[in-house]
Amino acid sequence: MTGGHILIVDDDPRITRLVRRIAEKVGFSATEFNDSEQFVEAYPSLSASLIILDLNMPGKDGIELLEFLAEQRCTSSVMFISGVDRRVLGTTEQLAEGRGLNIAGMLQKPVDVSQLRQLLSSHAKSHGVPTVDDLDRALASGAIKVAYQAKIDVGTGLVVGAEALARWDHHDLGPINPELFVGMAETTGRIDLLTRVVFEQAIKAAQGWSNIIPNLTVAVNLSPQLLSDLSLPDRLEETMQHQGFPATNLKLEITERGAMLDVNRSMAILSRIRLKGVELSIDDFGTGSSSLVQLYRMPFGEIKIDRSFVTDMLDHREAEVIVNSIIQLGKSMNLSVVAEGVEDEDVLNALRDMGCDQAQGYFINRPLAEPGFSNWLHERVSLNGRS
Ligand code: C2E
Ligand code: MG
Ligand code: MG
Repeated sequence: MTGGHILIVDDDPRITRLVRRIAEKVGFSATEFNDSEQFVEAYPSLSASLIILDLNMPGKDGIELLEFLAEQRCTSSVMFISGVDRRVLGTTEQLAEGRGLNIAGMLQKPVDVSQLRQLLSSHAKSHGVPTVDDLDRALASGAIKVAYQAKIDVGTGLVVGAEALARWDHHDLGPINPELFVGMAETTGRIDLLTRVVFEQAIKAAQGWSNIIPNLTVAVNLSPQLLSDLSLPDRLEETMQHQGFPATNLKLEITERGAMLDVNRSMAILSRIRLKGVELSIDDFGTGSSSLVQLYRMPFGEIKIDRSFVTDMLDHREAEVIVNSIIQLGKSMNLSVVAEGVEDEDVLNALRDMGCDQAQGYFINRPLAEPGFSNWLHERVSLNGRS
């Protein structure tokens, strides 16, 4: 998320690491630079809402970097960090503002962690990025809700399941992008709780659907970080048993974001989940974060073609070739193939011709919270019989 990205430039790697950790806790992603020349080279291809600069560095120093940023017409906020005394910091601030830069604050070394945290939090707020404290409150207060998006059988048009997608409508900032807050939960140790919150709502909702259409599956997204916890299969089973929910109606979608920490352990955990009857799906296939190696190693029963290929497939021949290849690959490996991001009827028809099994996307329905999704199911059944 560009709104929440920070660039940290300091020749001391201990400082950049410390600042990055605090930034991530507050909910930003960050890139560290320990060499000012490298920063200058990389800058044009990066976008960030905030740049944190050390003023005293070998090579190009902070003042030269400010000149550089002014020349580049940088619109990001800039924060200084330095061991020089306050007076020099003050003069530098005036100089930078005179050159049209947005100065977000100054910090003296040694870095006062709580002051930095405060500065970053207020920067986050003013840029529409929620803080980790906000996320904690949202998780505790039930503000994290779930929206459901149908998966249909491409051949018959019948609804066969739905994917649970986390939603957060922040009281001041409005709806927060799920990739942002899921990423934040992942980097700050809250993903286990977030997943539990989504999972519990999802199986309750799915139990309600059985009155409308029997045996719909519900798919929950599972972050790969959770695949290091050996207690996960039993915990999932316990929750399902407690709720009286059949394991065969649950699907888990897994994307490999970043490397899996321990492939053998992840494989053991996934195999145990599969043995309990839960189906496993590999999400965002074709993007490079979900690979053939995973397909080969892990007990997946379903491939989801990343929406970037599906949405584009009728306009870009390469995207169409990729979609078709993934469908053929799935068939030859006896896996069910789902296309996500189906936005119009022409794409749905093309997918049917290619032999794709299932489809999901705005053409079928926008993700809907309950009771909206149940109402949508009712309408679909009364319009088309079971579908
Ligand atoms: P995903 O699992 O690949 O989910 C599909 C995303 O595609 C959803 O975005 C959905 O709203 C969007 N989408 C569906 N159909 C269309 C379409 O026709 N056109 C377009 N342009 N987009 C479509 P969303 O809800 O923003 O979620 C983004 C990602 O955040 C998800 O991608 C998933 O990786 C992650 N996520 C969401 N909820 C959870 C969760 O509870 N746990 C975890 N670990 N990740 C989650
Ligand atoms: Mg998914
Ligand atoms: Mg996906």
